[in-house]
Amino acid sequence: MRNTQIFLKDRNIMSKIVASAELNKDDIVLEIGSGDGRLTRELAEKAARVYAVERDLNLLDSSKIALKELKNVELINADALEIDFPEDVTKIVSNLPYAISSPVTTKIVYFLNKRPNSFAILMYQKEFGERMLSIPGIRDYSMLSVFCQYTCDIERIINVNKACFRPMPSVDSIVIKLSPKRITIDEGFLAFCRAIFQHKKKNLYSAILDSREKMALHTKPELKARLEKLDESFMRRKVFLFEVDELLNIYKEMVKLGICQK
Ligand code: SAH
Repeated sequence: MRNTQIFLKDRNIMSKIVASAELNKDDIVLEIGSGDGRLTRELAEKAARVYAVERDLNLLDSSKIALKELKNVELINADALEIDFPEDVTKIVSNLPYAISSPVTTKIVYFLNKRPNSFAILMYQKEFGERMLSIPGIRDYSMLSVFCQYTCDIERIINVNKACFRPMPSVDSIVIKLSPKRITIDEGFLAFCRAIFQHKKKNLYSAILDSREKMALHTKPELKARLEKLDESFMRRKVFLFEVDELLNIYKEMVKLGICQK
């Protein structure tokens, strides 16, 4: 288990991550997957407090020794997906465990949504980060892109070459900043997007018909009749070509027409 961990070695990248977190002595930082504590130390020097969550007990023990003189670090031996993040956290800064990228991003986004002044600086595997950043018309544009861009302003901080890690992994990485938008996350909208993105290469009309068991209105003739009322050029456009705002407007129309549940 321990040998499979990959650590960030490059000091410049580390500095860039810490600088982009814009930490000050009021900040309480959450770090997910603190490993041997190398990033934790840098964070603790700039912030008021750091909660460092690490699942691997061996790593946690070695970081406990390495960081023992730092009084503002709280090490938490836990699976980050299983715990509630501490309420007083102001920023999340992590070189994330890539295996949990998807669920941990969801969890982080909902956490940030309740803290509109906060943000997260997160390192991901490059491919995953590119999917988060992807725009309509690009192959990678997916439900993940829609979810991230609906809920957050998302920014590429820096691409990180695999040579910056030890042992050297087979993939490159990327550091991303997620800043929550001041919105109430509409679960109905997300459910609608999830349904149609199952058919993202089809046009919107077919995608809606093909996911009709997930719509409020199930029967095909009824659904077809109501879809006639929507803009035809939209209905003919492929799902992966829609901007998030366009999808949101279509969803609102569909709610009015009783096709989607609010
Ligand atoms: N922060 C360190 C290590 C990052 S590697 C650095 O920058 O080099 C990711 C770390 O996440 C590993 O130490 C791994 O043990 C830990 N990890 C993996 N899955 C986890 C989970 N579900 N919850 C908490 N930590 C986890």
